[in-house]
This record gives sequence, C-alpha cells and structure tokens, in this order.
Amino acid sequence: MTDIYWPLQRNVIRGRSDHNTFGLVRRYANGALKPHQGWDFEAPLQTPVYAVAAGEVAFVRDRGDYGLQLCIEFEFAGRTLFAFYAHLSKVHVSEGARVSGNELVAASGESGNAAGMAVADQHVHFEIRTAKQPRLGLLDRVSPLTVFGKCPLHEAIPG
Ligand SMILES: [Zn+2]
Repeated sequence: MTDIYWPLQRNVIRGRSDHNTFGLVRRYANGALKPHQGWDFEAPLQTPVYAVAAGEVAFVRDRGDYGLQLCIEFEFAGRTLFAFYAHLSKVHVSEGARVSGNELVAASGESGNAAGMAVADQHVHFEIRTAKQPRLGLLDRVSPLTVFGKCPLHEAIPG
C-alpha cells in the first residue's frame, strides 16, 4: 500500500467552506451548478508544499487559471493517479524526477487566477486526477477523499 502524506504542514479547506471541496459545489451566476475539481487548502504565500506520495514528476508548467502547476504521478490501490497542485510560486523539482513521499516539492503562491486574493483566501488548489491531461468538468478526477480518507473541512489536520 502506498503511503499517503498531506500536502501541507497544516491542512484545512479554505474558509472551511463546502464550496472549496470537490464536486458540484459551486454555482454559476445563473444558479446552475458548477464543478470544483479538487480541494482548496488554505495556504498563506510561500507555504511549503509536500509530495503526497512517492512517484514521478509528470509535469511542471505555468499557464492559464492554474498558474504555476506541479503534477506527480503515483500508484495507489492498483491504479495510476496524478496529484496536481496549482497557484504555486516556486517548484523545486523537475519533470521526470523521482520524488519521495512527504518530500518538499514546492511553495504556495497566487499564480494564475488566484492573484491578489485576501490572505484568508490564499490557497493551494489540489486535485487527484486519473489522467495526466483530464477532460473538462469533473471528468478524469476523483475526490481527494479517495486517497486521504478524510476531509479537513472543519478542523485542520497536521501533515
Ligand atoms: Zn480550487
């Protein structure tokens, strides 16, 4: 069984709000349900970010709403998954590198569409993907609950 680690030293969902968990948890202006593809972990700028499992760096890139992104491929319960981190300020590992579980891999930031957020809203957007390049909406993603087993919605969990 793959050892799983939390991505931060202190892990709690941004604003302790359901809207920052996985699923059809948000709404468009017209009221229709809108997907959120991962969990937002509260993280003031420059918070250290860790590998949630041993694996290989699938990509590092900087573009679009996600800003500076890191994706780590790992094995879990007999399947290949991808831990995806976004809005980073710095990534310490390169594409193709092997990483250990709980290795320091990045620093949080406000890149992409997270720029200029109030301190209380600064966060790491974190997804568990079943494909390196997922399709739209919730396709090719699963709830991070799948690997963590619990969601730190109301109380912070130490990493
Ligand atoms: Zn998010």
